[in-house]
Amino acid sequence: MATLDILTYPDPRLRERCRPVGAFDDGLRSHVADLIETMHASRAIGLSAPQVGDTRQILVVDLSEDQSAPEVFINPQLVTKLGFGFVQESCLSVPGVERSVGRAMSVRVSARDVHGRSFERELEGMAAVAVQHEMDHLCGKLFIDRLSWLRRYFATRSANAHAAADHGSGLSI
Ligand code: ZN
Repeated sequence: MATLDILTYPDPRLRERCRPVGAFDDGLRSHVADLIETMHASRAIGLSAPQVGDTRQILVVDLSEDQSAPEVFINPQLVTKLGFGFVQESCLSVPGVERSVGRAMSVRVSARDVHGRSFERELEGMAAVAVQHEMDHLCGKLFIDRLSWLRRYFATRSANAHAAADHGSGLSI
């Protein structure tokens, strides 16, 4: 396993639309293991493949306090979403920025596992937010895109200032 480098805003590779995974092979499983290790090493609760320069539809989340429950969603689709609320979000790819974003608070997602088997999962609260945040990455979208233009202006200024100062990152999605 290996820890992968994380792309940061405004890297244009974060803007690409990801393609579905077609081959559920050992190469995929090894890459997913690296994604999980990178998420854990970064103290994040979620990570998507495009954040490490891979434009395939893969995301991982782990909402446990001791990093013991990683979950993998490959080729995820939102089946239903319910409720609405604002939650503070941050992102490994937009270091130094934390903003509240409106999201569905309950979602049902269909996806495949690392062996290509289909499954559906109901997610609530922060887990629902994390999966929606990572699914945005798979469409080339960042959480700051969901802010009003004025809030986005200040958020991107913070991101640029943070990049210049090269701080470490806190808990991120
Ligand atoms: Zn993110």
